[in-house]
Amino acid sequence: MEEFVRRREVSGVGVVTRRDLAEVQALREEFHAVFTAPDQPTAVTLLNTLLQRTRITPHLAEHDGHPLHVHYFAPGSSVAEHLAADCGVALAHVLVENERDRLRTCAAPDCSHVFVDESRNRSRVYCDSRTCGNRMHVAAYRARRRDAS
Ligand SMILES: [Zn+2]
Ligand SMILES: [Zn+2]
Repeated sequence: MEEFVRRREVSGVGVVTRRDLAEVQALREEFHAVFTAPDQPTAVTLLNTLLQRTRITPHLAEHDGHPLHVHYFAPGSSVAEHLAADCGVALAHVLVENERDRLRTCAAPDCSHVFVDESRNRSRVYCDSRTCGNRMHVAAYRARRRDAS
């Protein structure tokens, strides 16, 4: 969890507790449900439910070498509240722009990660090309070699 906060640069987070972990895991399930919703109305309802109980305070910030940007999380937010606000608003924009087809689940069978496909031709199928993508390519290569021999 501390590693996640550091790597993803979740700002304004103090000491991370076991409770934070449980809250973020529950939130992850909620976001996962939005990504895998069968249709737009379901995705909208699920995301609205999440946003309704999230404190959101737009605030302009410039820190840690990042140019001016908008924070949506309220002052004093927990990690889960921070992620619910900022990721929730970002996801709301994806739905508003009618870009729900960019919300993907990783194509690797042993991976349940979801991601937003920001590629120009909307062709991304793996959450991470270096890990899942590479692993699947190696598996496909081995399978082809087996077929050939
Ligand atoms: Zn920031
Ligand atoms: Zn993956």
